[in-house]
Amino acid sequence: MFKITPQCSVCKKEIQANEEIFVEMRYPETKGMAEIKAFIQNQGKIIYEECNKK
Ligand SMILES: [Zn+2]
Repeated sequence: MFKITPQCSVCKKEIQANEEIFVEMRYPETKGMAEIKAFIQNQGKIIYEECNKK
């Protein structure tokens, strides 16, 4: 799914499969799913649901 190794922006732990995550990003101007995936990889901040609550 991700080409890069996704990691939590808060604690820097690698995101494990099936973990609940929160992605902080701006909604891209393009609406295609492929575009959004690329956008998350480039600009999205992935945060563990748990870390986001703190
Ligand atoms: Zn974290």
